[in-house]
Amino acid sequence: MKMLIEGKLIDKNEKIAVENPFNNEIIDYVPSGDAEDVKKAISAAAKATKSMKEMSSRKLSRIMYDIHQELKEKHQEISKLISLETGKPIRDSRVEMDRSLQTLLMAAEESKRIYGETIPMDAAIAGRTAFGFTIKIPLGVVAAISPFNYPVNLAIHKIAPALAAKNTVVFKPSTKAPLAALKMAEIMGRHLPDGAVNAITGPGGVLGDQLVTSDQVNKVSFTGSVATGLSIARKAGMKKLTLELGGNDPLIVLDDADIDAAVLGAVGGSYLNAGQVCIGVKRLIVQESVADEFTEQLVSRTQKVKTGDPLDPETDMGPLIDEKAALNVEQSVNDALQKGAQLLCGGKREGAFFQPTVLDQVQVDMELVQRETFGPVSPVIRVENLDEAIKAANSTPYGLQAGVFTQNIANAKKAVREIEAGSVLINKQPTFRTDNMPFGGFKMSGMGKEGVKYAVEDMTRTKMVVIG
Ligand code: NAP
Repeated sequence: MKMLIEGKLIDKNEKIAVENPFNNEIIDYVPSGDAEDVKKAISAAAKATKSMKEMSSRKLSRIMYDIHQELKEKHQEISKLISLETGKPIRDSRVEMDRSLQTLLMAAEESKRIYGETIPMDAAIAGRTAFGFTIKIPLGVVAAISPFNYPVNLAIHKIAPALAAKNTVVFKPSTKAPLAALKMAEIMGRHLPDGAVNAITGPGGVLGDQLVTSDQVNKVSFTGSVATGLSIARKAGMKKLTLELGGNDPLIVLDDADIDAAVLGAVGGSYLNAGQVCIGVKRLIVQESVADEFTEQLVSRTQKVKTGDPLDPETDMGPLIDEKAALNVEQSVNDALQKGAQLLCGGKREGAFFQPTVLDQVQVDMELVQRETFGPVSPVIRVENLDEAIKAANSTPYGLQAGVFTQNIANAKKAVREIEAGSVLINKQPTFRTDNMPFGGFKMSGMGKEGVKYAVEDMTRTKMVVIG
């Protein structure tokens, strides 16, 4: 695949191989872009701001519907690419494409609903004779940087709202999984003015630094790890920033919970995409009186998770993104075992595969649950009561989402009030997102919200107009 700069597909002599983590075969190559390519892409985006600004919302929305139509026609092809480059089971890649299409449609609709407001100027002494209102104007050039785990949907959560608000975009996909997203950008580019969407590939540090430090970039919208997010925040200067970072989501199971439902939620949330989900269930905080029953059912269901070829529609779980990622998970699991955790099932690694794993007797200060473990692991932390559960839930630097299973409304209300997370879900695992809800974490999990309406709002600035 190639880069997209000012409407042209650009190749380079130097290339980066994209490997299938299931069989290590090379699927394709992408150009290894450099600082000069980033400069060109930013200039193209800056040049295109004029045509985007001058386009009517009606026409822009129509174009976004046309992009939606073409992406829909390529649904199967792009879903397969996602599975090949990430190892995600094909069933889940298709869901990712469904969600991406829906996200794009929502943005096409939202592009016609960008409202300012009238200001009651006469509420202030000085404003008695003035008439005032706000208008929402585009920011200009948006840098969109995305991670490997949901390569199309997380990219579209940035690019579509940026376009809906009449911005232009320089998009940098993850080097680990750039192909499906590049295909999507190429399709977008065919429908939009040249330079409205540019896509560049190459070493993340080089391209990323250049993007986030450029004076011509007005906003950085980033999804990825806390470490990269922090580095961007330090370098970005006076730019608008949205940072969607790592998670370490707890699932609390109280003694009044529907245990079957909680187990289903735990399994769905722990092993989806081999645990490589920012809102994956990363910690199971279970009240002692139901912990034996819960873990027994959890182990039984975990052992039924079918691992294998991501292209087989029967596969529930594929490999991790690469062997290094699986080695990291193995190291965290072994550390927990050495410190007294008990292995109930799984725990073995083979290449990039890591078995779905349940660990009991996990303590809140173990590395496995203090850091974000990006793999298929269910660590069970036993607690005596709700207070202890909330304390454990809040004990890490992360705060993306949290789930609580309880039939008691008072417990639910207390959990909602006291858990420090961007979303609290009652009787649902935290591994849940609709693409229109405000989504984004507290603490080190980030700043700003995505979710189409909220992202579009954040892709504009407010200009005040006063008529004397
Ligand atoms: P990552 O290593 O932080 O990479 C994310 C993106 O940043 C990639 O495109 C990467 O490029 C690029 N990058 C690398 N160095 C950079 C720099 N110095 N400046 C700017 N960009 C740079 O994250 P990942 O491993 O791909 O993704 C997993 C992480 O994302 C997890 O922590 C997960 O929780 C988080 N995540 C969060 C959300 C959310 O919505 N909160 C959603 C999904 C994932 P290269 O690939 O070329 O290095």
